[in-house]
Amino acid sequence: MNLNLTEVILEDGRSIDTELPLELEELGYGFGTYPIEEKEPMKLEVVRTKKKVLKIHGKSSLTVRIPCDRCLEEVSVRIPLDFEELAFVGSPEEEETDSDLESAFEKDYFIEGYNLDVDKLAYGEALLNWPSRVLCSEDCKGLCPVCGQNLNRSECGCDRTQLDPRMAKVLDIFSNFKEV
Ligand SMILES: [Zn+2]
Ligand SMILES: [Zn+2]
Repeated sequence: MNLNLTEVILEDGRSIDTELPLELEELGYGFGTYPIEEKEPMKLEVVRTKKKVLKIHGKSSLTVRIPCDRCLEEVSVRIPLDFEELAFVGSPEEEETDSDLESAFEKDYFIEGYNLDVDKLAYGEALLNWPSRVLCSEDCKGLCPVCGQNLNRSECGCDRTQLDPRMAKVLDIFSNFKEV
């Protein structure tokens, strides 16, 4: 869904205050693709702060199905979006190169001509707010490292004390790394 920015760009003192539905169906993050289960329409406020700089305040929320870090069962995770972004409109070769404009220009992947692509913007913001850890529950028992059984469902009876001690160390390091 595109938001036409022509008015706010061309006319002084104009601002936009609106709400647009998101069309996004899934999010790609890392090597995975995760379906979006629920999405709130994006509330948007757009004002022009300088000749070619727009300040965009956006609010929405996406609920995404993401596998639990330990047992891989899918969990519904709500990713709230509440952000302020600067966007540079107009061709980058033109005039002005102050640092404000340069940093704004790097972020304007969601601007095409005089249109703001609401889905691209939501996508980028969701990735910035991606949860660092996803667990189906705080005490998720995870998968058996021997046979892969989901230990939340049942105990498989494997002897997990016999794990190669070097492997156990690697698993420790890995889980410590993930906790950070
Ligand atoms: Zn789990
Ligand atoms: Zn097992």
